[in-house]
Amino acid sequence: MGEWVYTNHLERGIVKTVFVVGAGPAGLYGANKLAQAGHEVLLFNRDIKPGGLAEYGIYPVKEKMKSGLRKQFGKMLSQPNLHYIGNVAVGGEQAVTLEALRDLGPTALVCAVGAQGTKKLGLEGEDSLGVYSAKDFVYHYNLLPPFSSQNFSTGKRIAIVGMGNVMVDIARWLLIDDPDRSTEEVIVVARRGPFEAKFDHKEFEHIEMFLDRKAFEEELDRVKENMTSVGQDISKLSEATFPVLAKPAQETPGPRLRFSFLTSPQAIHADASGRIDRLTLTENMLVARNGGTSAKASDRTSELDVDTMIFAIGDVADPNFGLPYASAGYVTNPDDGDPKRAAYEVFDSQTRKVIEGTYVVGWARKASEGLVGVARFDAEQGATHVLKYLESAVDTPTPTAAEILRQLENKGIEAVPKEDLAHLARAEEKQARERGVPSFKFADNETMLASIAEEKAKAGATDLVQK
Ligand SMILES: Cc1cc2nc3c(=O)[nH]c(=O)nc-3n(C[C@H](O)[C@H](O)[C@H](O)COP(=O)(O)OP(=O)(O)OC[C@H]3O[C@@H](n4cnc5c(N)ncnc54)[C@H](O)[C@@H]3O)c2cc1C
Repeated sequence: MGEWVYTNHLERGIVKTVFVVGAGPAGLYGANKLAQAGHEVLLFNRDIKPGGLAEYGIYPVKEKMKSGLRKQFGKMLSQPNLHYIGNVAVGGEQAVTLEALRDLGPTALVCAVGAQGTKKLGLEGEDSLGVYSAKDFVYHYNLLPPFSSQNFSTGKRIAIVGMGNVMVDIARWLLIDDPDRSTEEVIVVARRGPFEAKFDHKEFEHIEMFLDRKAFEEELDRVKENMTSVGQDISKLSEATFPVLAKPAQETPGPRLRFSFLTSPQAIHADASGRIDRLTLTENMLVARNGGTSAKASDRTSELDVDTMIFAIGDVADPNFGLPYASAGYVTNPDDGDPKRAAYEVFDSQTRKVIEGTYVVGWARKASEGLVGVARFDAEQGATHVLKYLESAVDTPTPTAAEILRQLENKGIEAVPKEDLAHLARAEEKQARERGVPSFKFADNETMLASIAEEKAKAGATDLVQK
């Protein structure tokens, strides 16, 4: 990363410098624990704002949850030994590689970059227009740059592949909150049957009134023989996964929600403009396996006319980030002593050695696993391992956060320190007041950076007047 001035002033040797990459919930809670133990922590983040999916994934109207988390994160970031460096993507093809960060000499490096890779199914037509990954779509409607300004147009008939909470969020957006109001039908394409639905009842309540009950009954009729053959009792469905079935059916005008159970996408067909217009589905058989069920493809297919398709089947870690990668994600130490203990230290499968002092936490360690509380627990557990390592690790000189910010500026990277986050928050609050809305978010980096500069200039002028 160029010429650095090394000014390690941590003379006591107890205080070490740790770099954390990624300021989502995992990075923030992990960094918080390390900072509370007294270490100098530098937190690098791709996005200008901290929060990761808590800011740009959690459903937009869950404002109470989001603002509660923002407050917690703000408090953590207020620690003087926790330094935030936003708007800096690390790794892969980025201007700041993981090696460049390592070369700066942190005693430990914690990667909390979430699951930024996309699961590719290798389907014919997968690159057609109107086919999106849930993560990108969710980033778009949560206004994360650059996804916020990219084309994520949806049509009238949208297939969502997957049957978890993310599917429910996306269906909710399409059926209720999408300002385009173009949705006529959402069709959930589920590999297995209705008992295998993974969403929370409370979340599904938001969209249950759109369920086309007649179509649902017909779909159950289609798959019920197969369900019975694996011991599933269809009369228990309302207790298990679809409580809405115990409620009287309502005739709701407007868009409809349908399910296509025991089906998997096989091929995507596009029209002359290159946009998806049809989906070939493989019909699956439900088979009993290890006390549960699994889906086995049959040779039967069916066709579904759709103009949009969104994959909500979970994500994977980004293979190009720069850490050793295998099919299940970043490789962690398989010989971690206690097999019950979760492994956090990164492992190089080629040399069969741990990469000393390098850790992964949160969704970077286990992609798409659990809610914020799970990411927090994982990161704090990971931080405990890091703290143990720091006790005996040899300290090396590391540039200060201020020096790193200066160097990044020299490289033309407009990094955003934590002081600037307050300016940004003020600018957004002002916009909200002017527009008479409860909250407002800038949707592109240029406006965020310009607003920070403007607020900073104003604060500077006020300081001068007060002097
Ligand atoms: C659609 C959706 C809805 C959800 N709703 C809820 C909910 O209602 N309630 C709840 O509790 N949980 C919810 N979750 C789960 C919750 O968001 C996750 O558990 C949590 O965000 C995972 O935290 P993380 O820090 O591991 O990853 P992330 O939140 O993904 O954070 C990763 C961070 O790393 C940064 N980053 C990525 N790549 C780089 C890079 N190369 N260099 C530097 N920085 C990088 C990103 O900018 C981001 O800040 C939802 C998740 C999704 C996808």
